Amino acid sequence: MTTFADLGLSPKVLNAVEAAGYTIPTPIQAGAIPHALQRKDVLGIAQTGTGKTASFVLPMLTLLEQGRARARMPRTLILEPTRELAAQVEENFVKYGKNHRLNVALLIGGVSFDDQLRKLERGADVLIATPGRLLDHFERGKLLLSAVDILVIDEADRMLDMGFIPDIERICKLIPFTRQTLFFSATMPPEITKLTEQFLHSPARVEVAKAATTAKTVEQKLVKSGKKDWEKRAVLRDLIRAEDEGLKNAIIFCNRKKDVSELFRSLVKHEFDAGALHGDMDQRARTTMLANFKDGKLKILVASDVAARGLDIPDVSHVFNFDVPIHSEDYVHRIGRTGRAGRSGKAFTLVTPADVKHLSSIEKLIGEDISWLDGDLSTLPVSTEPEEAPRRGRRKAEPKRRPRNEGRERERPQSEIDILAAADKAKDAEEAPVVAEVAVAPRNADKPHRAAIKADNEQRRGKPSQAEPRRDHRRERDDLGSAPVGFGDEIPAFMLIDTKI
Ligand code: AMP
Repeated sequence: MTTFADLGLSPKVLNAVEAAGYTIPTPIQAGAIPHALQRKDVLGIAQTGTGKTASFVLPMLTLLEQGRARARMPRTLILEPTRELAAQVEENFVKYGKNHRLNVALLIGGVSFDDQLRKLERGADVLIATPGRLLDHFERGKLLLSAVDILVIDEADRMLDMGFIPDIERICKLIPFTRQTLFFSATMPPEITKLTEQFLHSPARVEVAKAATTAKTVEQKLVKSGKKDWEKRAVLRDLIRAEDEGLKNAIIFCNRKKDVSELFRSLVKHEFDAGALHGDMDQRARTTMLANFKDGKLKILVASDVAARGLDIPDVSHVFNFDVPIHSEDYVHRIGRTGRAGRSGKAFTLVTPADVKHLSSIEKLIGEDISWLDGDLSTLPVSTEPEEAPRRGRRKAEPKRRPRNEGRERERPQSEIDILAAADKAKDAEEAPVVAEVAVAPRNADKPHRAAIKADNEQRRGKPSQAEPRRDHRRERDDLGSAPVGFGDEIPAFMLIDTKI
């Protein structure tokens, strides 16, 4: 059996690998490392969780032992699609580079340019970047790519999904032709094949477990649901509660950022220990949220695919797909967040009658039928919208009329009181307008989800929130966590004139 010592890595690297507790290289490591050390281009077809990060970090560390970096001229460049993945790669350099004195700089969006510039000025041995921020620095003349000797393009298929391919092409052309390129992708759609043909020179191709394989340690179930969001939220809550103590922690995936935010608010309102992770949150909130989830301070993380792709969180007991993913490969990636490193995990997917097509392409991809938890869609009861179900759309301009003198309400005939109460109830169920939909009082200010609510709010408002969170009991019945702030019930008439935002 191949050991790390057989791969040609330097003693310093081998020592760090041993300290990390790894003895046997994974297939991608055993396949890619010797080629990378021979300065060959590598095309690694591997998904996250296969140990692919170390398959480029370890040979890079060995090769970087010779030479020094000059100011603003990084020696190596690693491109990652998301900030979280970039940060994760940096952590790998810290872990495996503990015997080296290398400067590692991280250029990601959402954090200050100044700190990043200082690191570039010092001379970076390793520059880890997301494509947009890298090009920003380059265009400002703060960075020269002419000394880059090794280029790593990681998660290329995700770069494609995120529209980064033109940026990648541009960056590849800015780096000397003589560089070594290590290229990783979980899948090889035609656009990616074209890219590799254009930018790799006789690469060694190393392919490991396809994205279509789901770990045998994950128990997968389908759960029927009505197609309305509130119906799905109710089904999800029941599922989480039913798992009870067995649920150590969970990631819940939604297809859209907007739904991440909405579901997260609803869960918090129902007193679940939840946080959110999506691309529109500011970087600090994303980092804090992720750290809290990894550290076990947060039990449930509601996330979008982009934010959660490739994250290395070793011990996730449950994955819930609030939405059936549109791209079947995302299903494999999502459920691959649980059942890692031989542990067991559970993955539940909510399925509505509208999802049948996407479900069948998932089952085709993974080559098996996923079983239903409690009867398939044919057993779904006809859905009836309850009175207090939240309705979509803006609050009507028509003011909410409250009796001038509350005390007189007792003198009204019962039927009229009932009508007023019904009108109030209907209005409560409406979704608040965007500006009013911002401050939810977290039950416990220390909870990490507070940062996400704040970030989410700021994103919606476009500016930092100054408002004190306040709870509005009128909205207690609906399951969205939004509460009006500001004037509350006492809204002056002039503010209720309908305006276009
Ligand atoms: P990655 O695919 O790079 O995201 O790595 C997935 C996980 O595998 C990480 O937690 C690594 O620390 C771990 N890992 C990497 N190499 C090995 C190895 N040779 N043996 C066991 N675990 C590993």
